[in-house]
Formats: sequence, structure tokens, C-alpha cells
Amino acid sequence: MSHGWGYGPANGPETWGEEFPVANGPRQSPIDIIPKDAQYTPSLKALKLKYDPSNSRGILNNGHSFQVDFEDDGDTSTLTGGPISGTYRLKQFHFHWGASDDRGSEHTVNGIKFPCELHLVHWNTKYPSFGEAASQPDGLAVVGVFLKIGAANPRLQKVLDALDAIKTKGKQTTFANFDAKTLLPSCLGYWTYDGSLTTPPLLESVTWIVLKEPISVSPAQMARFRGLLFSGDGEAPCCMMDNYRPPQPLKGRQVRASFK
Ligand SMILES: [Zn+2]
Repeated sequence: MSHGWGYGPANGPETWGEEFPVANGPRQSPIDIIPKDAQYTPSLKALKLKYDPSNSRGILNNGHSFQVDFEDDGDTSTLTGGPISGTYRLKQFHFHWGASDDRGSEHTVNGIKFPCELHLVHWNTKYPSFGEAASQPDGLAVVGVFLKIGAANPRLQKVLDALDAIKTKGKQTTFANFDAKTLLPSCLGYWTYDGSLTTPPLLESVTWIVLKEPISVSPAQMARFRGLLFSGDGEAPCCMMDNYRPPQPLKGRQVRASFK
């Protein structure tokens, strides 16, 4: 791991436990969701997402994925309701994807992989900052959205059009006035369970909210994701793809469903 964690044979998910022992902990993510084993829980509330487009700030190639960052020092872009208590603020969203359309999502459903998965990351405002929330059992809430091959998605295109400017690791540019809510499907039915970050440090602080309904992406749009590079300027080019962690053991956890 001399060059840090990644998704290659020498530094990929199978090796993360060497530096981050919690990789083998009791509430790791992602998981394979088995719908027939999920417990329909009528008391689960509807998700309330209130996103202010003026909060989007920048887009960054972090060498593992790319992320769109949001101003989070006010309560203008928030997640409430659902399985969580209190108010969680939107911090960033990012994606995981495959080298081909038959894989790429982190969560799977009955073992089925999607080509891509969107993660909208929120932190609990009962803590003073994202950094402090990230190590608390109720510190983070991540909304996961599957992308499924279909028609080109015009709302996703605005994000994809920014990727040319952040092709290599460490590059960033401004990304203003983006309404993250436009990336969500029309139905907000979800599965929820207690889990973790899916990248090191793999902290067990995430309430996962995985939406049942996917959003669409075209094969050409998927190809745009794969035009990004894991590598930095001046390094041997290495295409960013297969940046997903495979499902982890459930270890007795209950998955609940907000829908029948
Ligand atoms: Zn993620």
C-alpha cells in the first residue's frame, strides 16, 4: 500500500483491511440487498430533500472518483425525514462505475449489478462539522441512487460536460448553480440499513438510504465517466473505472423497506 489505497490488484478493496482493520467490522458497506428479506416498515417516514442550487460550489477529480461539493455552513440544502432524526446537510455527491455496463454499482439487488451508483453524502448537524460527524454512529446519511442503461439523461449531462476540465487527479473547477434534486428519480421509496463509508477510512457512521427506483443513463454517457483518469498530470494515464467496493457481509443486520 505504499502508494495508498485504490482499486487496482495491489491496492484494491481486498487489501484495505491491512491499513484499515474496520474493513472487517460489523457494519460495512455496500451490501447485496435481497428485497424479499427486507422488512417493510410502515413507520418509516418519507424522505424530505430540500436542496438549494445556489449551494453548489465546485467539481473535483479526487483520484478515486469525482465529486461535486456544496457550501454547507447553513441549513439551506438538507435531508430530513426518512429513517433519520434531526437535520443532515448535503456535503457532496459522487459516483462509482464500471469498466463496462455490466458492473459498477456498489450496492446490488438480488446480486444484480448496475453500471453506476450515485451517492449524495449528508452529515448530521448535531455535530459541529462534517469531519466530526464522520466518525459518529449517526454522523452521516448517504442517499444511493442506481443508474440503469436507457435513454440519455439530460440532467446528468450538465455534470458530464464538466468532466473534460477535471480529467486528471487533483484537478477542480467551479460548478455553480446545480440542483442536485434533478438527479433523483420520481419515486423516493427506499431500503435503509446501518453501514459505513465504502472507501477508506471505511468509518461505520453511515445510515444508508438506497432508492429502489433507478435513474437512466445512456451507454454514451457511461463512456464519458470512463474518460476520467485515476492518474495525475505527468503520470502514466490510467482510466478511472471499476471504482467500486463489492458487497460486504450483512452480519445480522436488518434491511428495512419504506415500501411494500
Ligand atoms: Zn460512494
